[in-house]
Order: sequence, then structure tokens, then C-alpha cells
Amino acid sequence: MLEAIEKQALMTDAVPLAAGEKKSLIGLDRAELGQILKDMGEPAFRAKQLWHWLYWQGAKNFDAMHNVSAKLREKLAEQYTLERPSAFRFQESSDGTLKWLLEYRDRNKAETVYIPDVDEDRGAVCISSQVGCTLSCSFCHTGTQNLVRNLTAGEIVGQFMVVRDQLNEWPTPTETARLASNIVMMGMGEPLFNYDNVVKALNIITDGEGIALSKRKITLSTSGVVPRIPEVGAATGVSLAISLHAVRDELRDVLVPLNRKYPIAELLDACRNYPGLSNARRITFEYVMIKDVNDSDADAHELARLLKDIPSKINLIPFNPWPGTNYECSSGNRVQRFSDLLYGHGYSAPIRTPRGRDILAACGQLKSDSERKAGQKVAL
Ligand code: SAH
Ligand code: SF4
Repeated sequence: MLEAIEKQALMTDAVPLAAGEKKSLIGLDRAELGQILKDMGEPAFRAKQLWHWLYWQGAKNFDAMHNVSAKLREKLAEQYTLERPSAFRFQESSDGTLKWLLEYRDRNKAETVYIPDVDEDRGAVCISSQVGCTLSCSFCHTGTQNLVRNLTAGEIVGQFMVVRDQLNEWPTPTETARLASNIVMMGMGEPLFNYDNVVKALNIITDGEGIALSKRKITLSTSGVVPRIPEVGAATGVSLAISLHAVRDELRDVLVPLNRKYPIAELLDACRNYPGLSNARRITFEYVMIKDVNDSDADAHELARLLKDIPSKINLIPFNPWPGTNYECSSGNRVQRFSDLLYGHGYSAPIRTPRGRDILAACGQLKSDSERKAGQKVAL
């Protein structure tokens, strides 16, 4: 069943190279780099060197690689590049949030956001996993976009590298001195519908001899692709966030249509089995606050009851409006009351302050103008 959905959902992965076009090495894992070098007749240790230049030094051209022979650099440059996705548009919000509309080789576009922490020198990079999304959650702008394709591992790693380029964070700084300190897989797309590429990209990003981001600092958000949940935990060790948004199946079926396939009880069971789950490593439940839809006192009490045996944190996200939506954000008082009720039940339920609203960079507002293609939506 899952395979059927994923297949129906997608789609082109690797964009074929045009005649004379060179492949970027960004997104290749250690084994793939090793193979390329082996095919060039190079000894195994070269792979480690190349890895270091790509992902630790963030090299943008082969000339910089001074411990690699001129001959090999030339050979590499003949066939490959170190290209990242290009910035089609770059915007800076009055609150310091940065947003890129990145263009990929086939002209498809998807957004990447950097959200600096308000009082500390660190910040989260919000990464997209797909161009658009096949799941049409009724409150999400991305879900209204028709064109969808999976991003490749290179396109996913490339997003983080573009942010590091902008912030001047090469070579990889020590963990405590990073502006791009965290990743949230909360951009466009459903990461667990692009499982292989997302897992590969995260494993490249967490490799200690490269970009070296700790697993603990990465959170993957899913709308609830139940069969993939324990699997992604085992394959990556990253933290999990669940876009819950409703406590009753009838309502969640409308807000998050994937719920019709994987209802709340099954979703929460998968959460209970998430590898490494403990009070120190809790699951984040995201709950978008929509006026008169899911924001009653009864909803708050039921949410507390549903999550009572799962080590969890709750993140309340005031609904971010976008052009054409009929939903409204709950009032400030309502959101506060909801949070207080959860607190009364012993939960930490912070209210997420919307960031980058002036450049439409907040949760659920991401959308690119990639052209529409027919038949790419999942019929549930
Ligand atoms: N597809 C994944 C990853 C995207 S995360 C998922 O849905 O989890 C984006 C987060 O923003 C999700 O929690 C999503 O439910 C939330 N979101 C979507 N539209 C929103 C909106 N208009 N206002 C606030 N949050 C929204
Ligand atoms: Fe897709 Fe997530 Fe938006 Fe739903 S909330 S349409 S799963 S990006």
C-alpha cells in the first residue's frame, strides 16, 4: 500500500544530464566518491580527502584542493562540478529570517529558509524535501501547488550548503560556534515520501568529518507516513516531529487527508515505537491553531489524554494565512488558553512565534511557482 502511494506520488528523481553537462559531486556519499576515484585509478585514501574538501571545507572549485595533485584536479574538473542549487530569489525579513527560492537544474524551484535564533548566535535551516507536496493538507499553501517531484540527495544537502555559503561558515566550525546550528525538515514536501533521498542526505550531513551536524540537532517533520516512522529513526537517529493538528479522526481527515490512510491511533502507536524515544528525546507534536476548527478547551484536554504515554513536547503554531485560504488564526487569548490548559496537564506547549511573515517564510507559507503538471496529486 505504501509503495503504491509513493509510486503514485512520484516521479522523477535524478534529472538526466544534458549533452556536455557535468554532474555535481554534491550529494554523493563516501562509497560513490570512492567509486569515482577508483575508476580514475586513484588510491582509496583520496576519497577521504575529497570528502573533506566537499563537505568540511565547502570547496567551490577543484583548484582549492591543494593536497590533491594538479592532474587529478584537472581530471575531476573535466567531468564534475561542485555546484550547489542556484538562488533564483533571495529575501531577507525584517526579523533576520532569510529565504531562498532555489532553482534546480531542471528549472524546478523550492524554498529554503534560515531562521536565526532571537538572542543567540545560532539558527535553524528549514529544508525542503520535494518541489511542492502531493498531500493536500487543507491549511497548507505548499499543498496547493500542483507540480511535485522529489528532490535528490544532492539537492537536499545543497540547500544546507547554500546557507553555509551565505553565512560564511566554511570550513565546518565547532559545534558551539555555528549560525546554521540546526536543521528542521519542515520545508516543502513530505520527507517520508522521499525516503531514500532524505535518509541519504541526512547521513551525509551528520557525518563527523564533513558538515558534522549532530543527529540531535536535526528534526524531521512528517504528516504521518506511519510505516516509515520507525524505519527513519533507525536509519538516521534524528528527532521526530508529527504534524498532528487534530485530536479526532473526522477532523484530521479533513486537515491532513493522509489521516484517512493512517488514522490517529496508528500514528500514535508508531510514535511509541520510535527508536531512542525517552524523556530526554521526546517527539514534538505540531498543532496549528485554527480559529473555531481545532482550538477548543475540549480539544486541549483530549490532546493531553492522547499523548499521555508518549514522551512529548507540543508546539503550538498560530495558523499562518496565505492568499486564498478560508481559515483564520485563533486569537492570541485562545492560543494562550490552549497552551495553559496543556501546561496544566504537565506538558510544555510553547507557542511558536511566526518568523519571516513579511516574506512569506513562515510555516505552511512556502510555495514555488514551478509549472503545473497533471496527475501528480495523491488520491487517498
Ligand atoms: N510535510 C511535512 C513537513 C512540512 S512541515 C509535514 O507536514 O509535517 C511544515 C509544518 O508547518 C507542518 O507541521 C505543517 O502542518 C505546518 N503548516 C502547514 N501550513 C501551515 C500554516 N498555514 N500555518 C501554520 N503551520 C502550517
Ligand atoms: Fe504537504 Fe506537510 Fe503541507 Fe501537508 S502540511 S501539504 S504534508 S507540506
